[in-house]
Amino acid sequence: MKLALIGFGQAGGKVVDEFLSFDDAIGGGFIESAIAVNSATTDLKGLERIPDENRILIGQARVKGHGVGADNELGAEVAEADIDEIQGAIDRIPVHEIDAFLIVAGMGGGTGSGGAPVLAKHLKRIYTQPVYGLGILPGTDEGGIYTLNAARSFQTFVDEVDNLLVFDNDAWRSAGESVEGGYDRINREIVERFGLLFAAGEVEQGDHVAESVVDSSEIINTLSNGVSTIGYAREVVDTDGGLLSSLTGDDEFDDGAATNRMTSLVRKAALGRLTLPCDVSSADRGLVVATGPPSHLNRKGVERGRQWLEDETASMEIRGGDYPIPSRDEVGAIVLLSGVTDVPRIEQLQQVAIEAQETTEDVRASADEEFSSLMDTGGELDALF
Ligand code: GDP
Repeated sequence: MKLALIGFGQAGGKVVDEFLSFDDAIGGGFIESAIAVNSATTDLKGLERIPDENRILIGQARVKGHGVGADNELGAEVAEADIDEIQGAIDRIPVHEIDAFLIVAGMGGGTGSGGAPVLAKHLKRIYTQPVYGLGILPGTDEGGIYTLNAARSFQTFVDEVDNLLVFDNDAWRSAGESVEGGYDRINREIVERFGLLFAAGEVEQGDHVAESVVDSSEIINTLSNGVSTIGYAREVVDTDGGLLSSLTGDDEFDDGAATNRMTSLVRKAALGRLTLPCDVSSADRGLVVATGPPSHLNRKGVERGRQWLEDETASMEIRGGDYPIPSRDEVGAIVLLSGVTDVPRIEQLQQVAIEAQETTEDVRASADEEFSSLMDTGGELDALF
């Protein structure tokens, strides 16, 4: 499906940059336009692929290109104040050509955390296309303010978008990695999963002899509301195998192997590391997509995987289909779980944020009290004026 991508804040911009690179690499064609919005000039300059005219600086009057720090209330304010600047860039998109908007932001910071929900609300008011969010949760080691920001932004963002796709940095960090190197790797993991999903809905009729290609309306229906997470599993395959087996007449065996492989890839995807870990059985809707060279895609395998997911979730709304990628030497399964409700990480995030908010209020109240007592002279000292 065709998307207008908007990266809000530093993480948002970097991930959109990476999406452009991935779209190019797989020849996906799922990005119609890519925009970056930030209150920090240096962050916009650091981007590589987003066209210069689509890099929008906001909040200049308030923060003079220096960013909002980790103040997401200020992030929301400057987004609100400069919404016309952002709209100016969106006006250059051929909106009638897109199937949806996708706003990407790190939720623990200031600009993206505060601004992304403001933009979502604005877009929903104007356009009929769905507005999706891709929200990145901070690591638990980033500290209280990031957790508090993320919890408040999450609460607001979910309300303003049609669906919030979530990626949890905490579940994906590796010990011993530098923060920057870590983000580069993590960003590639993000775009591979979400990119394959959206590219799947972009296969043109007649592109391939696909058995049952995923349609963008199936993605849209799966993302009707709530919070979503993605699982992905893949396996390298011998791309000459199809030709060989057709020469040796060994098709039957290969078919069975391909079916089994796809069924177990679907299970691995759903039960392995999700972008947002959750209890799979709490999903309300799901979509299974088989990716890879057409000769290795197998309808029976997808169907079995789909049925298995139906049993796991007790949901009647599990869709399935193919995304053929002739140039790839891997077969993969993407499992999109939507409307998930049993998500321990979100509960923990909210709990820690409530505690951080109470501590902040207590500290502020006692600081006010101590300052009053410092200045209190019992009325014996006259102020100057
Ligand atoms: P903003 O520019 O004020 O919106 O804030 P940032 O985007 O710099 O940071 C917000 C949060 O996003 C951080 O707390 C990190 O959890 C996360 N983050 C920052 N950069 C990256 C990145 O490149 N990749 C990922 N996955 N997360 C990032």
